[in-house]
Amino acid sequence: MRDTLKHRGLRNKLAAIVAEKGIADKNVLNAIQTIPRHLFLDSGFEAHAYQDKAFPIGADQTISQPYTVAFQTELLKLKPGKKVLEIGTGSGYQTAVLLHLKAKVYTIERQQELFKKTKLFFSKMGYRPKKVIFGDGYKGLPEEAPFDGIIVTAGAPEVPKALLSQLAIGGRLVIPVGVEEQVMTLYVRQSEQKFEKKELGNFRFVPLLENKN
Ligand code: SAH
Repeated sequence: MRDTLKHRGLRNKLAAIVAEKGIADKNVLNAIQTIPRHLFLDSGFEAHAYQDKAFPIGADQTISQPYTVAFQTELLKLKPGKKVLEIGTGSGYQTAVLLHLKAKVYTIERQQELFKKTKLFFSKMGYRPKKVIFGDGYKGLPEEAPFDGIIVTAGAPEVPKALLSQLAIGGRLVIPVGVEEQVMTLYVRQSEQKFEKKELGNFRFVPLLENKN
């Protein structure tokens, strides 16, 4: 698959749709205009890549809806060079958006098949996250903490304590919390012990799976 003028036109339209739904951050909208989302999907879905919809990516997982990606990214309030942990690499599209904002990205995926596929895809495409890790995002990545931002791209039944503890002071955790449906929740760390919490509307994600062993 290639990236063509036609794809670029579709991306401009998609960015306009996402803006209309309430995303104001110019850099986030620019990421949507720039990143070739059709290349993150299996070829069967290419025609749909620039609809504002989630799609299957194999292993029972989905690439998040562009609006949701933009909404979560905007909440992180990233500046260039900030350190971000992403839980749920999936197709890598959200990762690419974070990289577009010049974040230093650490991303964790627990499905081996997706981990391998997407890691290879990153190197083919020249996307350079700091680390792509096969593991359990519930635990975060203590050896690289603290993070300025943590973004969870699967629905968590509750907020993993490890993730809160790995936030820098002033750092932001964006996580959809709930089982059937999720409430997008933002935590801002104000001090060692204090977190500000905001709830920002309902979304639907595939579940964040915990490794019980
Ligand atoms: N950011 C992705 C969204 C993928 S869907 C994208 O834009 O394509 C959520 C992903 O979270 C899935 O790939 C799923 O396998 C992964 N996941 C679920 N539980 C996880 C866990 N405990 N640790 C890491 N990844 C997890």
